[in-house]
Amino acid sequence: MLSAFTLHQPVSVTEASEMLRHYGDDAAIYAGGTELLVLMKERLVHFAHLIDIKQIPGLSSIAVDDAAGSMSIGSLASHRALERSPLIRERAPLLAEVESQVANIRVRNAGTIGGNLCFAEPHSDPATLFVAWDAHFTLASAGGSRTVAAADFFTGLLETAREPDELLTGIDLPLLPSGAGSSYQRFKTHERPAAAAAATLWVEDGRIRDARLVAGSVGIGPERLPATEEMIKGQEPDATLFARAAELAAASVFIEEEGFESAEYKRHLIGVLMKRALAQAAERAAS
Ligand SMILES: Cc1cc2nc3c(=O)[nH]c(=O)nc-3n(C[C@H](O)[C@H](O)[C@H](O)COP(=O)(O)OP(=O)(O)OC[C@H]3O[C@@H](n4cnc5c(N)ncnc54)[C@H](O)[C@@H]3O)c2cc1C
Repeated sequence: MLSAFTLHQPVSVTEASEMLRHYGDDAAIYAGGTELLVLMKERLVHFAHLIDIKQIPGLSSIAVDDAAGSMSIGSLASHRALERSPLIRERAPLLAEVESQVANIRVRNAGTIGGNLCFAEPHSDPATLFVAWDAHFTLASAGGSRTVAAADFFTGLLETAREPDELLTGIDLPLLPSGAGSSYQRFKTHERPAAAAAATLWVEDGRIRDARLVAGSVGIGPERLPATEEMIKGQEPDATLFARAAELAAASVFIEEEGFESAEYKRHLIGVLMKRALAQAAERAAS
């Protein structure tokens, strides 16, 4: 059962941030509540003040800026809204595809993309995808706003670069140019993925010019795999290269023991998923 709390409904980011500053550790932002309220019901955390940000206008918007070559997504957009958005389906179909696999329809309806990222649960699908996609996050407080690369946002287990008085207000996703392709592969035995791999490849004149490869769900957060990225850069994208790269990814990834699957099994999964992700990203880059 939930213990008593006061619900606040600020109508601006500034007001919400001032509340966070005022109540300090006694307060938490409440978006969809799919993580927060469960933790509170189980008495794992308690906050005397919940700051419901759903009355703040503009935080659910989804828009494309063609001049900037990017898509902006409000942090309050639900997984279901992202899965169904015609704009996302047309301009960033991989995101719609990934969002359609998150949790179940009840969680996707209530849960927001901002809540998913700020909770920084290691099995987050969008977190892994956004690091591979080089997304940037906007954090705002009463004192102003700043942008943080997705790769720098996740700092540890359930930890992020967000300051206590900041809200995550939006996500900037670069629209991939022609010659670039991205893929996300996951495997699950329970509700959340047991292992995931994301790859973005930029291919020029038949060779891989740049790569962002990320393993997810097996460590304490999304993990970039720089040695594997370096190995494939400058090479022709083919099955032999991807098999070798997948082997290196599996060997070098950090695995956090969890009790469900063995570390050896998770390492194997990363190899299989990374090989698939590389092949699909290369195929998409060529199309
Ligand atoms: C049964 C189940 C299955 C799931 N399966 C998956 C899965 O397969 N893949 C996956 O990726 N995820 C999965 N999830 C996680 C799900 O995506 C998240 O629960 C959801 O997105 C959290 O969003 P929320 O709006 O409900 O967050 P809340 O519960 O409202 O908040 C979560 C945390 O983030 C903070 N917060 C929320 N919004 C902001 C903001 N804008 N700025 C700053 N801080 C903020 C809150 O204070 C709180 O600490 C699953 C969850 C459940 C319960």
